[in-house]
Amino acid sequence: MTNKPDRLGDMPTEEFRRFGYQIIDQLADYFDEMERYPVLSQVEPDWLKNNLPASAPESGEDFGEILGDVDRLIMPAVTHWNHPNFHGLFSTSTSSVGVFGEMFAAAFDMKAMLWRTSPASTELEDVVLDWLRQMMALPAHFEGIIYDTASVSTMHAIAAARERAGLHIREQGMSGRDDLPLLRVYASQHVHSSIDKACITLGLGTRSLRKIECNERFEVIPEKLALAIEEDIAAGYRPICVIPTIGTTSTSSVDPVDAIADICEKYGIWLHVDTAYAGSTAIIPEFQHHFKGCERADSIVVNPHKWLFTPFDLSVLYCKDLSELKGAFSLVAEYLKTSDEQSVKNGMDYGIQLGRRFRALKLWFVIRYFGREGLIARLREHCRLARLFASWVEESSDWELMAPVPFALVCFRACPAGAGDLNALNEKIMNDINASGDAYLSHTKLNDNFAMRLSVGSIRVEERHLRKVWDHLNERLP
Ligand SMILES: *Cc1c(COP(=O)(O)O)cnc(C)c1O
Repeated sequence: MTNKPDRLGDMPTEEFRRFGYQIIDQLADYFDEMERYPVLSQVEPDWLKNNLPASAPESGEDFGEILGDVDRLIMPAVTHWNHPNFHGLFSTSTSSVGVFGEMFAAAFDMKAMLWRTSPASTELEDVVLDWLRQMMALPAHFEGIIYDTASVSTMHAIAAARERAGLHIREQGMSGRDDLPLLRVYASQHVHSSIDKACITLGLGTRSLRKIECNERFEVIPEKLALAIEEDIAAGYRPICVIPTIGTTSTSSVDPVDAIADICEKYGIWLHVDTAYAGSTAIIPEFQHHFKGCERADSIVVNPHKWLFTPFDLSVLYCKDLSELKGAFSLVAEYLKTSDEQSVKNGMDYGIQLGRRFRALKLWFVIRYFGREGLIARLREHCRLARLFASWVEESSDWELMAPVPFALVCFRACPAGAGDLNALNEKIMNDINASGDAYLSHTKLNDNFAMRLSVGSIRVEERHLRKVWDHLNERLP
C-alpha cells in the first residue's frame, strides 16, 4: 500500500495510472451492461446512510477498497439516468466523450474568473458557443455564456431585464424604496418552476410573476398576454420581462414566440426564450419553424446537458447584447484588477459566480466527435421514435394522446372501456412500472387529468426499448 501515514503529497502517479485504467474498464462495462440495472434505484430512504460510517476515517484508506465500495454501496443507490428506458422527466444522457471532458476539466481544475487564470476555458467557451449558435441558426449578434443550469441562466436574464428597466436596483436595491412600482414578469401557465424561483431570488416575489392562459394545445395565447400587459400598465405596474417557452416541461408545447416578440417590441419589454429542453432541436433544419421569433429575443436559454449528450451541468444563455448582462453583474475587486481588462473577456463579469468550471471542453468534445450531422441524426431518430410510440397510442382504443408531440415527449393515458377512475388507474400503472425497475415514466396533470409522460432522449435508446415499455403498459391494463 502506497498511502502510508508518513507520506505527504498526492497519490503516486503510478497508482493513479493503475486505478485510472481500472475505472475506465469499470465505466466501459457500465455502459455495455446498463440494461442489467433497474432504471430507478430500488433502495429505501436512508439505506445508504445506514451503511456508511457516521464519521470520516482517521487514517487514509486503500483506494482499491474505496472503489469496491462504489460497486457495493453507491451503485445500488444510483438511479440510472443513462439507461435507455429512463423516460421520466426529460430523458437526458451523457456520451462517453462527455465523460472524458469532465476528466480533463477536473484534472486542470481551472477557475475561469479572469481570462488570465483560464485562457483555454474563456476562449474555447466563446468558440464552441458560436459553433452551437450557428448550428441553431441564431443570428450572429447572439453571444453566449455558460452557466450550470437553466434555472441560473434564466435568473441572470431576468436580472439583466430588471437592470434595463432603469430603476437603479443594482445600486439601490429594492428594499426600503417607495419609488418602485410592482415589477411584472410574464410567462405561460405551463412555465417551469425555475421562473418562479428566479423571481423569489431576485426580490421580485412570486406575485410579480403573472401566468398567462393557454389554448387547448397548451400554448400561450398572445392576445391574453397583451391584455395582461395593458391592464398592468394601467394599474401603474412595470412589465420588465416576458418568458415564452419552446418545449414546456409538462407537454413540450411551443409558445408563439414571433407573436410574443411583436408585443415585447411594442411595449419595450425584455424577451427571454426558455428552450432549455427543446432548443437542441433547432439544429434540425425541418424543426426550425418551432423557433421562429427567437432571432428577435433579448436572451435565450438552451441546455446541452439535457438533449445534446453533454454530462450535467452545462446550460447556455445567449444574449443579444452581452454587455447588458455585464452591466448588471460586473464588479472588479482590487485583487482581480488586471492590465488587460479592456481587451479580454473575463468570465466573472457575467454573473454571480467568481470562479467558473471549464465546461466548454466537454461540449467541444461532443460537437467534434459526433459532428453536426451526427447530432442531427440522433435527435431526428428520437423524434421519430416518439412519433412511433404516439402512433401506437393513437391506434389503440385502450389508450389516448393527451397533448400534441412536437418533439420527443409523449403525454398519454390509458382509457379502457369501463375503467372508472382514470386518474387512479393511470397513476397505478405508472407506479407499477416504475417500481419494477424496467422503465421510468413520470406524469403531469392536464386539465385535472393524470397523464403519463414518456420522454425519448437517451443516446442509447432504440426502437426495442419503446416496444418494451408499450408491452409493459398493455400488460397492466385491467
Ligand atoms: C429542464 C428545464 C428547466 C430547468 O433546467 P435546469 O438546467 O435543471 O435548471 C427550465 N426550463 C425548461 C423549459 C426545462 O425543460
